[in-house]
Amino acid sequence: MLIDSHCHLDFDLFDDQRDALMANCLNSGVLGFLVPATTYASWSKLEMLVKKYPQWRAAYGLHPYFLQEASLSQVDLLGEQCEADRVVAVGEIGLDYWPDSVDMTLQIEFFSRQLMVAKLLKLPVILHARKSYDLVLKCLRDARFDEGGVVHAFNGSFEQAKRFLDMGFVLGIGGTISYPRAKKAHKTLSLLNPNEFVLETDSPDMPLSGFQGRINTPLSVLAIAKHVSMIRNESIEQIATQTYANLLRIFPKWYEDLL
Ligand SMILES: [Zn+2]
Repeated sequence: MLIDSHCHLDFDLFDDQRDALMANCLNSGVLGFLVPATTYASWSKLEMLVKKYPQWRAAYGLHPYFLQEASLSQVDLLGEQCEADRVVAVGEIGLDYWPDSVDMTLQIEFFSRQLMVAKLLKLPVILHARKSYDLVLKCLRDARFDEGGVVHAFNGSFEQAKRFLDMGFVLGIGGTISYPRAKKAHKTLSLLNPNEFVLETDSPDMPLSGFQGRINTPLSVLAIAKHVSMIRNESIEQIATQTYANLLRIFPKWYEDLL
C-alpha cells in the first residue's frame, strides 16, 4: 500500500478523468492522497471532492506562487476552513523565489500569518520552498513553530535536510530522484533515516524521467517507491510500511481509516 502525500487532484485538468484515475490508483495499491490547496478560490471545490473520495485528506492554505490574487483577509478565513472534513494540515504554504512570484516581503507576510494559524490549531504544515530554504527556516524559527510537517519536493543537501529534520519535519521525496543527474538528491536520500521521509508525486506536475511533458498522476508513486528502494537498498514493502508510519506520525489527524 502506498500513499501520495502531495498531489493536486482537485485541479480542473483532472475533472474528466478523476473517477477513472481514482479507480486505477485503488486497483494499483495507491490508497491514500493528501491534496493541498493552492488558492482561496480552490478551497470549496477541494472541500466538496474530499466529501466524495474517502481516501483523500486535505490541507488548506495559500500557495506562495499563486499570491497575485490573494489578500490577507483570506488568511483570516483559514482557521474556519480548517474545520472542514478530514483536514490534516495547513498548506501548501511557504516561499517561492521565482521571477514571476510576488514580492518576497509580501510572501513572508502571508507565510508567517499562515504559520500562526497552523500553530493556533496545532496543525502541521506542508511547506513549499523554492530557492528559499534558509528564509523558510528563519520564518519557522521566528514563529516558534513546532508542529512539524513535510518539506514538499525537497531537493537540498543533507546539511539543509538536517536543519528541517531537527525542527520536526520530514522530507517529501518525489519524481526528482528518477533523474540520473539528480546526484545531490540521491545522496541526501541515501543518508536519511527510514523515519525521515514520505513519498509524493506533486501531480499533475513533476513528471518522472522519461515522462517529461506528460501529466503526472499519483500512480507514479509506485515508480518513485521503486527508485527509493534502489537508492536506499531497502525493499519496496519496507519503504511502503515506513513512509505510512511516518505519515501517521506527522499528520496525527490522518486516522487509520483508509482501508
Ligand atoms: Zn504542490
